[in-house]
Amino acid sequence: MLKYWTSILLTVLTFIGFAQEANYKLKMQRPQNHYFQVEMAVNGVNQEEVIVKLPVWAPGSYLVREFSRNLDLVTAVDDKGKTLEVQKISKNAWKIIKAKGANIKVSYDVYAFELTVRTSFLDLTHGYVSGPSVFMYVDGMKDKPGKLEVYPYEGFSKITTAMPKAGESVAKDGSTSFVYKDYDQLVDCPIEIGNQVEFSFTAAGVKHNVGIYGTGNFSVADLQKDMARIVEAATNVFGQNPNKEYTFIIHNVQNGQGGLEHVNSTTLSVNRFTYSGNEYIGFLSLVAHEYFHLWNVKRIRPVELGPFDYDNENYTSLLWVMEGFTSYYDELLLLRAGYYTKSEYLRKLFSALNYVEGSPGARVQPVAHASFDAWVKAYRPDENSRNTTITYYSKGAVIAAILDAKIIAKYNGKKSLDDFMQHIYKTYFVEKGRGFSEDEFKKELEGFLKENMDQFYADYINGTKIPDYNSIFAEVGLTVEYIGEPIPSVGVSLSESGGIVTVSGIRRGSSGEDGGLSVNDEIIGCNGFRVDKRSLEGLFNSVEVGDKLNLLVARDQELYSVTIGVSPYEQPKFSYELSNAAKTQKFCDYWLRTVIK
Ligand SMILES: [Zn+2]
Repeated sequence: MLKYWTSILLTVLTFIGFAQEANYKLKMQRPQNHYFQVEMAVNGVNQEEVIVKLPVWAPGSYLVREFSRNLDLVTAVDDKGKTLEVQKISKNAWKIIKAKGANIKVSYDVYAFELTVRTSFLDLTHGYVSGPSVFMYVDGMKDKPGKLEVYPYEGFSKITTAMPKAGESVAKDGSTSFVYKDYDQLVDCPIEIGNQVEFSFTAAGVKHNVGIYGTGNFSVADLQKDMARIVEAATNVFGQNPNKEYTFIIHNVQNGQGGLEHVNSTTLSVNRFTYSGNEYIGFLSLVAHEYFHLWNVKRIRPVELGPFDYDNENYTSLLWVMEGFTSYYDELLLLRAGYYTKSEYLRKLFSALNYVEGSPGARVQPVAHASFDAWVKAYRPDENSRNTTITYYSKGAVIAAILDAKIIAKYNGKKSLDDFMQHIYKTYFVEKGRGFSEDEFKKELEGFLKENMDQFYADYINGTKIPDYNSIFAEVGLTVEYIGEPIPSVGVSLSESGGIVTVSGIRRGSSGEDGGLSVNDEIIGCNGFRVDKRSLEGLFNSVEVGDKLNLLVARDQELYSVTIGVSPYEQPKFSYELSNAAKTQKFCDYWLRTVIK
């Protein structure tokens, strides 16, 4: 009997004393070597072997990046500091052979020298942590909470992150502690450590914290005012904002690369002189895009995108909704917030539409396939991409515009795509608390539009047909006309570097391809004369069907003579104008409304 009680007591004590959790320490002792030091204390593990892993990708950026390539030796010790055996068992996993005791400590250094929104970076000016590339997880413990202690380098005074602080004060050893409820949250909160400019603003009842690294021509007062307008416009779409606080980390660099979305934060990488003129509008559009994602993809999401599988590609054919609808709204929100006039907005929309329909790949790759294959195609573009692929960003935005027009017409100018977004947010995120399948999304769309979408999907989502833009946009007050016509074309695009002209792309089926020209060919002369890029492009643009061009070409240092003809090529193109019909004008006003003055 006594033995029995002792055993129960021990079980209870084990349960209380050894709750499973992983606590991390992040240090940056010598930033000039670009290494973060990570210690992961794993408590409450009773099995004999512990498997720890580092993600192979960062959610929101659909490419396997093999973050483990930046890790040096991984070591582990037990409670008493005794070294444990660590075996590498796959490209991103380590097995630790455990001794007695329920706690182990895993240590490793991470080389961080790639400053993008989805990778990590450290030098003497700042540190940036994109969680998936730095923090390992314990297999089977991703749902456990824990603590992160950040020890900034002595020259760094600030930490900007959306991760909740464990307390307000900085510890005696200089560290600041944060808490996370599960691994997803830990790696969904990027961390900026340095001497960044910090400020905040309140919009839509939410406190927004901003940390800006790097020199730039920004004005804090302008950003507070303009970012607040974008936040208000985005919140208006959904009628509510699910966050209490939100964090923007902004990197001002020479060549900005865009942003990455998170549940209650984002990181933006922008050109340091982006904060004036038209470029500033582009910056605000990026703010709108990433902010809109806090709903669309972080909460409204395909079932495949959360909880995540960090070890493999997470395939979904719905990126045309996640990225495409977000791209549609990033411009629409600027119109609604008063940064575009109606005509400026329509010019933007039709430029995207003509880009989509004018791409040879639009007749080859359906947008659902473009989404699914993002991992191997969109994120790995090459010289043939324009022939074979379409961007789910622009094509998805055009589909969103089509659906918006259909909904406005169906509901007589009383509802728009906003209402559908609210509906799907409520149904899946709020009520079901999960993502949707491709089929469920289609059914929701059909229910909302009260029509069967089989043909629409076959033609435009899983097919590559050109939509009947005139009849679609006529519903919302636009007269659209097809204005594509055959023009003489060689189908060859050029680039120039150091005075050398090379072929950068060849349209499939073009006369350039017929004549045997290849990408990377250096073009030295044409019809007996030396050429540079400008003169050759001038020639390409002035040819007539039937002309012949004799090119002197160097390929792999050998000279060749290549003769190419000129054939007609019709690139699909559309024009638009506002119609005068009173009813559709009213719908147009509703569609292109400005809500923030
Ligand atoms: Zn996006």
